[in-house]
Amino acid sequence: MSSELICFNAACRARYPIDAVLYTCPRCGGLLEVSPPVIERAGEMKTLWRQRRTSNGALDQSGVWRYREFLPFLDDFSGVVTLREGNTPLLEAPRAARYAGTGRLVFKHQGFNPTGSFKDNGMTCGVAQALRLKMTRVACVSTGNTSASMAAYASAAGLQPVIFIPHGNISYGKLAQALEYGAMTLQVEANFDEILALVRVLAEQLGIYLLNSINPFRIEGQKTIMVEMMDQRDWNPPDWVVLPGGNLGNTAAFGKALREMRECGLIPRLPRLAVIQAEGAAPFQALVEAGGAGKLEPVKKPETLATAIRIGDPVSWPKALHEVMTSGGATAKVSEQEIADAKAQIGLCGIGCEPASAATLAGLRQLRERGVIERGADVVAVLTGNLLKDPDYIYKYHTGRLETPGGEPIRPTFGNQPVVVPNDPVRIAELLESRRG
Ligand SMILES: *Cc1c(COP(=O)(O)O)cnc(C)c1O
Ligand SMILES: [Zn+2]
Repeated sequence: MSSELICFNAACRARYPIDAVLYTCPRCGGLLEVSPPVIERAGEMKTLWRQRRTSNGALDQSGVWRYREFLPFLDDFSGVVTLREGNTPLLEAPRAARYAGTGRLVFKHQGFNPTGSFKDNGMTCGVAQALRLKMTRVACVSTGNTSASMAAYASAAGLQPVIFIPHGNISYGKLAQALEYGAMTLQVEANFDEILALVRVLAEQLGIYLLNSINPFRIEGQKTIMVEMMDQRDWNPPDWVVLPGGNLGNTAAFGKALREMRECGLIPRLPRLAVIQAEGAAPFQALVEAGGAGKLEPVKKPETLATAIRIGDPVSWPKALHEVMTSGGATAKVSEQEIADAKAQIGLCGIGCEPASAATLAGLRQLRERGVIERGADVVAVLTGNLLKDPDYIYKYHTGRLETPGGEPIRPTFGNQPVVVPNDPVRIAELLESRRG
């Protein structure tokens, strides 16, 4: 197996060795991707992948490395470090389906991952590449799920994780994970873009491997979210796959995976991709709505309470645009109120997720109302992160104290207030009887 890095820019398509330390194309500045896998006997491969589910081997137990033939960038898997990422369930959600107005809705819940988000699917691959390159330190610029995941995988692999964050701009839930997993955390007195430029120079100088969203090996790992989903559905594609869009790495990964699966004969057709953005951070939605020609116009000050998709200038937009167009997909932008209400509905299914994930249900509902997605459609919506990532948001919503970034109140449409009661069994019994569910 010999894979390469290929420039994604159709006018360039330059090729580089798979072990070149590159993040973008040196010739044109374009995004890089790993060359596609070659799978000759699709049927046999499906059987092998299914058999591995009963194995006690570490790689076989991983929902990423179980599909290692689909990730052609490594020849030697002996150094791979897995926390048994992936293995996330497909959860039936009839109540959420009714809310969205669709026939069938199943959630692929990536919040079941070791650090609570889909970033783990990609990070195990990013760290595997860092190890093969003999790097000893890895870095990213993030306060979110990326830093939590990178910290865990780097520490598990004996690498030093270094996290750069803008000073005074901290999200405690996710940062707490990074600290606990042992990341060296640097708060820099600069904004996000300035820090990114700084880190690029430092990484080159000091030999630190960058695991930002642009890293093509993370994208490879995230492909397995779609492979596992198809395996769980006995290789029957749904009509639509709905996901939230921030930096658009996941959109790029899903599209690449689906195309490669079809080319290898693993699935008969492509599902359509629907990418949902928050109203205050929707440059990709604007680009697709305008027909997809030209360049993405960045949003200067992206705003949304769904912090995992608060991205104004998504790095993977050229790939994501290609994937949405190729699949005959769609985009939508949703308000803070729509996200909050959809999130509470997902909670009422007994499932739960973080705010960015709930954009999927809100967007699906909107695309149904607009007639873009048909009533009988068979839909898989990807919940990207765990409910406990953002408990503050939840408490505020249910007690009617949640506000948009602009200070507008968010109605607790499906609010669930805790009730204060006196120490009086009669009155408590009365209350319980009057509120019987
Ligand atoms: C990173 C992240 C996203 C955004 O994914 P992109 O690949 O950047 O589009 C959405 N939801 C959660 C929970 C995330 O961690
Ligand atoms: Zn190029």
